[in-house]
Amino acid sequence: LLQASGLSKSFGDLQVLRSIDLTVTKGEVVVLIGPSGSGKTTVLRSLNGLEIPDGGRISFAGGPDIDFAAPLRKRDRLALRGRSAMVFQQHNLFPHFTVLQNIIEGPVQVQKVPRAQAIAEAEALLDRVGLLEKRDVYPFQLSGGQQQRVDIVRALALQPSLLLFDEPTSALDPELVGDVLTVIKELADEGWTMVVVTHELSFARAAADEVLFMDGGVIVERSGPKEMFTNPQHERTRQFLDRIL
Ligand code: ATP
Repeated sequence: LLQASGLSKSFGDLQVLRSIDLTVTKGEVVVLIGPSGSGKTTVLRSLNGLEIPDGGRISFAGGPDIDFAAPLRKRDRLALRGRSAMVFQQHNLFPHFTVLQNIIEGPVQVQKVPRAQAIAEAEALLDRVGLLEKRDVYPFQLSGGQQQRVDIVRALALQPSLLLFDEPTSALDPELVGDVLTVIKELADEGWTMVVVTHELSFARAAADEVLFMDGGVIVERSGPKEMFTNPQHERTRQFLDRIL
């Protein structure tokens, strides 16, 4: 579905990504782990066109092969933006829109989906995450966990081919984390393709097809979750896992 190779990115003197290679096949769940500042968020933002790498290439199946060595063309950036939808640490909902308005905004305004169809799809998705009765309330009237679930529905409503999650539960109270991870795990089981940055290793163990450990802007190690968590090959991976397990 997605192939990225040699992605590099610097902010001033700080090189944040150093030749990142990443392949995501359809239906696969890739989990990115690593210490704070290792570049995980920057990888996700690059896949989504929110960050423009200095070098490397990204291609989505059926889309253009985008080479960041050349200035990025607007239509290539739009092609990137349209392929994936991202769920952030803090929800990305408009505070002055109701839950339903938030969900249909992208489909109706950007994708020109007929309003009635967008509403029907939004309601079906809300029902799935157990929040249909909240369709007419505002984000501030929801708990943090409910806000994140609505934000996931907002992303799903865009019908992206790839879902990107950037530490979707790290800002939540511990008792709210489970509900959100359950929704993400269900989406994974249904075959959604996703890249997830998370420190929730039990989730990674249960949901990931592949786990990538990043440190200092490089992917130090990649393997299946069982291998990664029981038999890491690199000293840096071991140190990191020892600290957070
Ligand atoms: P965390 O787990 O803390 O979110 P991360 O692994 O996701 O960390 P990134 O957010 O990708 O790491 O950041 C990598 C490095 O790049 C950090 O040192 C960060 O301060 C720096 N950085 C990120 N975005 C910018 C920016 N827009 N301008 C300058 N520096 C940035």
